[in-house]
Amino acid sequence: MPSNLYHFEPTNAGLEARLSTIDIAAYTKTRNHLSGQVTRLSPYITHGFISIPELFDRLPELKLADKLAFEFGWREFFHHVWSREGERILSDLRPPLPGVRYANELPEDIREGRTGLAPIDRAIHQLYATGYLHNHARMWLASYVIHLRKVHWRAGADWMFAHLLDGDLASNHLSWQWVAATFSSKPYLFNAENVARYAPADWHCADSVLDTSYEQLDQIARSDQTITISPSLLGMAEPELLSKPPAQPAVKIAQADRVRLVHPWMLADQPFEGQRIGVIHLPFHAQFHWSALRWRFVVKRLEAITDTVFVGDLNELKDMLSETPSVESIATLNPGYDALLPQLCTQLMDAPRQFANPSKTCRSFSAFWSQCTEAYPQRGWHR
Ligand SMILES: Cc1cc2nc3c(=O)[nH]c(=O)nc-3n(C[C@H](O)[C@H](O)[C@H](O)COP(=O)(O)OP(=O)(O)OC[C@H]3O[C@@H](n4cnc5c(N)ncnc54)[C@H](O)[C@@H]3O)c2cc1C
Repeated sequence: MPSNLYHFEPTNAGLEARLSTIDIAAYTKTRNHLSGQVTRLSPYITHGFISIPELFDRLPELKLADKLAFEFGWREFFHHVWSREGERILSDLRPPLPGVRYANELPEDIREGRTGLAPIDRAIHQLYATGYLHNHARMWLASYVIHLRKVHWRAGADWMFAHLLDGDLASNHLSWQWVAATFSSKPYLFNAENVARYAPADWHCADSVLDTSYEQLDQIARSDQTITISPSLLGMAEPELLSKPPAQPAVKIAQADRVRLVHPWMLADQPFEGQRIGVIHLPFHAQFHWSALRWRFVVKRLEAITDTVFVGDLNELKDMLSETPSVESIATLNPGYDALLPQLCTQLMDAPRQFANPSKTCRSFSAFWSQCTEAYPQRGWHR
């Protein structure tokens, strides 16, 4: 695992380094492989260092038919569903597979990455060490947790979200629901052959319980059966998950006529005439913990691009800002932030989108994509 590929610096230079390696044609050909030329931009996109419309501007040769455009579309699709369904995305959107009982807790051997199955243990170790996983590794991990170990997708989704640098409630929780079949028509399953096709040799799992047919896996997924495992003795301790930054930045709010509230999902470095206050709303983080890696990524950036960082309950800022003539920010759907920012701001801008946000929820990506891309010719799309 070449370390620089998995080192994410929360700086403009870190972002630019990722952008400079994008190869749209190679992405199309290789993106399904763990060693393929994916962008590893997700921590920067999730935290708003760069938006999807800005990415389209930075990549003038990107066409709608390119796989990369399509994947950017997936992100906007999930955010479309989130904007329409709100916190309902955190519960089953469709009934789960009938007759299957799922546990609410992740077993220890999964938390410690010692299930004895190479693609699962390798993925967990990588997640803990770097805060990043390739899409295929995420799908395998989710499928294993839900369908072979019979753990409810929500427990797995909360756990993965907490350890990812790019953890995004829409992309993560809806992907877990997609794997579980509560946001798709069938369970997502994988076997040893699939791993052998897309992963390097040390992830392979021939002769394991995963070395079986899709029919067999489908039967297991739809039954109460869990697979028998022989966990390894050696694993990796799960990194601590924290409800607040490990070190509390000092807050110093000065009087200003213009204030911009900068939350963790809008970390672009934009010039501003006035005071920039970084805001961390602790009630959200009490519900959704983050790893120390992720806190470092977010707080380091907030400190670099703002004048001061407030860590607490956003309600406490109401009095402090009540006399400020202009308070602006960018809307976010993250629970708590979504309700309080409109109360604090005199101007709240919409989060930028490349594709339309249909007024009625699209239940599938294909429905979303065809609606949005049909609209493009009228919106001056010439690619
Ligand atoms: C179980 C599971 C959980 C996931 N959790 C998250 C999450 O918390 N945050 C997150 O950003 N993505 C999540 N994804 C989607 C996808 O795996 C990641 O966006 C992608 O692997 C990030 O790596 P990359 O930047 O190299 O992606 P690339 O393949 O280079 O794609 C470029 C960008 O397109 C977007 N994108 C690509 N694929 C998807 C996808 N399937 N769904 C949504 N957006 C996509 C991302 O913003 C990504 O950074 C999840 C997928 C699964 C199956």
